[in-house]
Amino acid sequence: MNDTTFVWAPPPVPSLPVRRLAARAPVNRLFFVGRNYHAHAAEMGKPVDKASERPFYFTKSPTTLVESGATIAYPSETSSFHHEMELVLVIGAAGFGVSEADAHRLVYGYACGLDMTRRDLQLAARDKGRPWDTGKDVEQSSIVSEIVPMPGVVLEHGALSMSVNGQVRQQSDVSRLIWNVRELIADLSRFYHLQPGDLIFTGTPEGVGPVVPGDRIDGHIEGIGEIRLQIAEAG
Ligand code: MN
Repeated sequence: MNDTTFVWAPPPVPSLPVRRLAARAPVNRLFFVGRNYHAHAAEMGKPVDKASERPFYFTKSPTTLVESGATIAYPSETSSFHHEMELVLVIGAAGFGVSEADAHRLVYGYACGLDMTRRDLQLAARDKGRPWDTGKDVEQSSIVSEIVPMPGVVLEHGALSMSVNGQVRQQSDVSRLIWNVRELIADLSRFYHLQPGDLIFTGTPEGVGPVVPGDRIDGHIEGIGEIRLQIAEAG
């Protein structure tokens, strides 16, 4: 029984389809790993020395979630809307301060993701030491494919590629992650009590670049699946 009344309709629960299941996966939080492939860190002018650094993170609102296959409007206040193709790790069990050896227990599965970015605003904020929110927490900017359930599986390899209008832009392999799946779960769980439905976008490889209205993005991760996105005129 629920007697709560609201002054407006509560927002819908964000969720994603799960391969071979009728039930959908409710989504809790969206975490993003910054600079987790050496070649991308270098193209951003910020190389990573794993020996002396830890990974860093940013978040987006779950309301930015969009399903693969959608058409999104080109966002306002940017002239450099970039694609970032990423492996998405789906958390399926709670954990805090998890060791690398136990990290697999939190894995529910994986998906393909696009971390769409107002690159001009992100870099301006970065260079002024300001928060990245208007560059990264962009409406309709977190595109995710269906989730592939792989409970307890630590993905270590898998070719990743994406194209714009059929031309390949990004091509790499999950084995080139600077901080791998076990290391990311262990590190992030020192800051957050990870929960089922938390998604971790594990970082983008090199080859990021702009899209314009009319562009079509197609992405693929070996062993996981496909992602598609169409960019429309500003809405
Ligand atoms: Mn990213």
